[in-house]
Amino acid sequence: MIHHVPLRPPSRDFPADEWSVIEKRFNPEFLAQLETMLALGNGYFGMRGCPEEGGPNIENATLINGFYETSPIVYPEDAYGFAKTGQTIFSVTDSKIIKLFVDDEPFWLPNANLVSYDRRLNMKSGSLDREILWETPAGKQVLITSRRLVSFADRHVAAISYNVTLLNGAASLVISSEMVANEPSAQTNANDPRQTRVFGGRVLHPRTSYAKDRRIVLCHATEKSRLMVACGTDHSLETSCQHAHKVACTEDFGQVAFTIDARPGCPIHLTKYMVYHTSQTASAEELCGRAEWTMDRVVTRGFQHLLASQEQYMDDFWRRSDVRVRDIREERTKRSTVEIQQAIRFNLFHILQASARAEDAGVPAKGLTGQAYEGHYFWDTEIYVLPFLIYTSPRIAKNLLSFRHKMLPQARARARQLGHHGAMFPWRTISGEEASAYYAAGTAQYHINADIMYALRKYVQATGDEAFLQDCGAEMLVETARLWLSLGFYSDAKGGKFCINSVTGPDEYNTVVNNNAYTNLMARENLRYAAQTVHSLRATPDAYNALTHETALDPSEQDEWIRAAENMYVPFDEKLKIIPQDDSFLDREPWDFRNTPHDHYPLLLFYHPLNIYRKQVIKQADVVLAIFLLGDSFSPESKKRNFEFYDPLTTGDSSLSSCVEAIIAAEVGNMEKAIRYGIAALLMDLADVGGNVRDGCHIASMGGTWMMLTYGFGGMRDDDGMLSFWPRRAPEDNAILRFPVTYRGQMLEVEIGLEKVEYTLREGVSLAIRHELEEIHLTRENPVAVRPVSRT
Ligand code: BGC
Repeated sequence: MIHHVPLRPPSRDFPADEWSVIEKRFNPEFLAQLETMLALGNGYFGMRGCPEEGGPNIENATLINGFYETSPIVYPEDAYGFAKTGQTIFSVTDSKIIKLFVDDEPFWLPNANLVSYDRRLNMKSGSLDREILWETPAGKQVLITSRRLVSFADRHVAAISYNVTLLNGAASLVISSEMVANEPSAQTNANDPRQTRVFGGRVLHPRTSYAKDRRIVLCHATEKSRLMVACGTDHSLETSCQHAHKVACTEDFGQVAFTIDARPGCPIHLTKYMVYHTSQTASAEELCGRAEWTMDRVVTRGFQHLLASQEQYMDDFWRRSDVRVRDIREERTKRSTVEIQQAIRFNLFHILQASARAEDAGVPAKGLTGQAYEGHYFWDTEIYVLPFLIYTSPRIAKNLLSFRHKMLPQARARARQLGHHGAMFPWRTISGEEASAYYAAGTAQYHINADIMYALRKYVQATGDEAFLQDCGAEMLVETARLWLSLGFYSDAKGGKFCINSVTGPDEYNTVVNNNAYTNLMARENLRYAAQTVHSLRATPDAYNALTHETALDPSEQDEWIRAAENMYVPFDEKLKIIPQDDSFLDREPWDFRNTPHDHYPLLLFYHPLNIYRKQVIKQADVVLAIFLLGDSFSPESKKRNFEFYDPLTTGDSSLSSCVEAIIAAEVGNMEKAIRYGIAALLMDLADVGGNVRDGCHIASMGGTWMMLTYGFGGMRDDDGMLSFWPRRAPEDNAILRFPVTYRGQMLEVEIGLEKVEYTLREGVSLAIRHELEEIHLTRENPVAVRPVSRT
């Protein structure tokens, strides 16, 4: 079901463009949404899309992935094992402010006379570009152009090229480049559990600050998490106009103010370089030193060098990742080809921005575009984001899986605390410790353990990276398999089957249930993969011995895992011929959708959890997700029956739902729904479908859009270790879809046309794939195969 209507901002102000998100008029009413949508980031740090002048803004934030402060989680009624410490990302030093004064008149967007205005997120060059013609009250025409980037190649670096030209007269100019730490947040702790915790008072404590020439460094540390950040700015000014500058700095503030006698037609180019370094171990002096080295390097090379490397990075990214569409039928999608293309690229670009340089960190639910969900990492990464990365940027995928591996010590400790064996990954975290304050929709989501192992298997299959499996994967598999074995039991009441009780599946509207089908099915996969991996590892005694040493593995454990997997209880309802979501789901009273006002979604903001939990109502795809992820285990009829049963009960109150519904709708031949869900997923952020884009992009849904295009409409599957395609086409459909996938170091391009599908081996030597039921071998000599497309 779809409850949310996409918001269509006026196309005059936001014209569609394949490569950019364009704002043609300053729109105070879309300020917060645009801060999110036009945010820049590289996975290490990110800056919301606030104007250079430092305002106006709703939530001005510069976020560093994994840079957080802790606070005690206070429960009025505490219980054993509840997560004790909250971890919250927060805005660090804002370094991007550039204020402009013309004859002492401040340039301030809300009251400036803007003769022309153009701001665009340029997804080809990876920059935020702005061009404004401002007429001052005194009639001076000032052309201001700027280009901001957060570098992918230089992980610690951002830069702004800021240019001012007076068009019709001379004036005294001041360009004040500033940086501010501990800016008071305009945010409040609204009554929305998805938003962030807001710290009262100072979070960054000054360690050192200094200025020299045009360079300023501010260094701060957090009190409890003991993290340190050094932020440096440096500047270069090029103009033939006379100028001078002054530098000032305090603990929380830095300023380089350029005063310029501007002549008409004489351009002034300011480049501002911004650098962030963080550490838990380095001293303030050392960290500032690192910031200085980075600044020395980038200032010497200049802005053009940064821009060129950014463009090169983007070119390479699009070559590996771009999904292209043609001939979209507007009457079906209500969007033109250009709009759909723009939405696709917007989603892919933001995934890149959330993950590219997330080294030793995860992917926060909102990337680095907002503080909602406190910068935490969830299963979103493994189930929704990793498929895209695995098939387009496998190195990034590996970094993210390695990061999970590094969490094993905390995961082992958490399992022990809860009386389980093995390791238990946190539902939400930054540091590796569980940070979920609501166990029913948090810690109880044990499925995250199987989700991580599912992503591991996909990664290993798609890359052939057996070394990673040996070095890191196997250890995680052993520990998660142990977890399932100690969590479940053989139940007499269920005919001796292996049951897993008191867990929450992906659907957070049915919590702490017995035998959530998704969890049991995914745990079964986890157990099987663990047993299979340990078995095959015996062939490499060194690796096997290392594993037994690390995990104290007993040879008999494997048999236990297989026994549990083969006896896993998977609920089935004979009457409805569907998989019940859990043991009690079908006993519940159906939710009264007819009498639920449209503005009462998401239900979680309008109904007490108990009123939701006792009803048959679903927040997000659960059984339907299992059917997608474990497609091989279900017959086509079973997929159809389950989809038709669950779809009307699914509110889509989580943005993680639409993309999955679209994939299965396409698979069961309901193209009408596939397209409606697909559009909802594609426009989740661009058209604010969920109504909360102001809080940050929905990165999981963005990953889901790629799955929807490739798995859903492209009919791609990888269940049995071979890439296969069974493209889905409605009879009257005529759009053309083209996408690349990287598989075992080779690049395949798939183009699904009206009548035929074309497979081209773009890079590599030889690749076997399946089209429908036929196996095809592509080689360097014969790189192309064309097959007819079946109609549904
Ligand atoms: C969803 C979860 C998701 C989280 C973060 C919640 O609303 O129900 O599945 O992990 O958001 O995106």
